Amino acid sequence: MKFGTKAIHAGVEPDPSSGAIMTPIFQTSTYVQKAPGDHKGYEYARTQNPTRDALQKSLAALENGRYGICYASGLAAMDAIVKMLKSGDEVIGTNDLYGGSYRLLTKCYGQFGIKSHFIDLTDPKKLEGYINKNTKLLWIETPTNPMLGIVDIKAICEIAKKHKILTVVDNTFASPYLQQPLDLGADIVMHSCTKYLGGHSDVVMGAVITRSKRIADKLYFIQNATGAVPGPQDCFLMLRGIKTLHLRVQRSSENAKAIAEFLLKEKKVSKVYYPGFKTHPNHKIAKKQMSHFGGMVSFDLKANTFAAAKKVLKGTKLFALAESLGGVESLIGHPASMTHASIPKEDRLKVGLTDSLIRLSVGIEDIEDLKADLAKALSKL
Ligand SMILES: *Cc1c(COP(=O)(O)O)cnc(C)c1O
Repeated sequence: MKFGTKAIHAGVEPDPSSGAIMTPIFQTSTYVQKAPGDHKGYEYARTQNPTRDALQKSLAALENGRYGICYASGLAAMDAIVKMLKSGDEVIGTNDLYGGSYRLLTKCYGQFGIKSHFIDLTDPKKLEGYINKNTKLLWIETPTNPMLGIVDIKAICEIAKKHKILTVVDNTFASPYLQQPLDLGADIVMHSCTKYLGGHSDVVMGAVITRSKRIADKLYFIQNATGAVPGPQDCFLMLRGIKTLHLRVQRSSENAKAIAEFLLKEKKVSKVYYPGFKTHPNHKIAKKQMSHFGGMVSFDLKANTFAAAKKVLKGTKLFALAESLGGVESLIGHPASMTHASIPKEDRLKVGLTDSLIRLSVGIEDIEDLKADLAKALSKL
């Protein structure tokens, strides 16, 4: 099955009790058994739920995986993965990681003896120098947030395999429509479904997808034992969102390309970060591992101050000032004070995350309106 067909059909069957074409919202906490142990595969809703099952199958299909497991949020999904480690193990992650992922690794797991190193994975050659016998997990984000760096998933996974290190790709920014990391050698794909998969800014959810039964069994155990499961209403909304994933991400990507080109010509803009540009340092890898360059664009201002950025951030009407990304509506954000405020300033500046950097999540509105909105905000500088 091709991607668009999978987005609509994978995992979902008409409901056998009624013929309902849409998977019902099974709003129940428990299931009746005929005799002890004699049941239909469902015992208690922390462990299994039919609405969640349909979604998990859909997600597994979209990522070309075998097992999908959903969580109450993207960070809960990450938390479950990190719980597979033990004290003394070490993690290597991308250096401009999503702020919440950085916080989880350093502030929550650092105190349990799990050490994390954050390095520039856009150059695979640097990786081997950081690997030691305790390195157990490699955490890749690509495109990175908010600098839109590109990590060569295949090259990194090959190095990790040599050292028996588990690789995880946080595929939130690309979505499975643009990039399928399991095909490139990753062991696990993680998603904040809150973003492109849901796509309508109305659900918080996370997911993990893998082909390995061993990993899936560990994660099922952790999901059941620690309980960060999503509710059936949210699973229903996620299934509904996924049905248009290919259309939405396609349009977002086309709009983002047009916005990036527009910003490049703007006199008040000093830099545009967009992996679709031939001048982007890892453009060739982006072209190889992604089918499009995605809906995210970051840019910096010639007036290199937070005050200038504030003017632009307050000046747009269609681009709403908000955290998050991947919805049908365009958003504008200020990483230094919003999503990445938990990262120390000197670490931020090292990767180019200045006080005047602005991040856009380009939605699926009409492009002329989006350009006009940004032009007006920039004219206030
Ligand atoms: C939002 C986000 C997360 C966290 O997901 P939540 O659903 O907000 O918990 C993790 N990684 C990336 C890249 C994100 O954008």
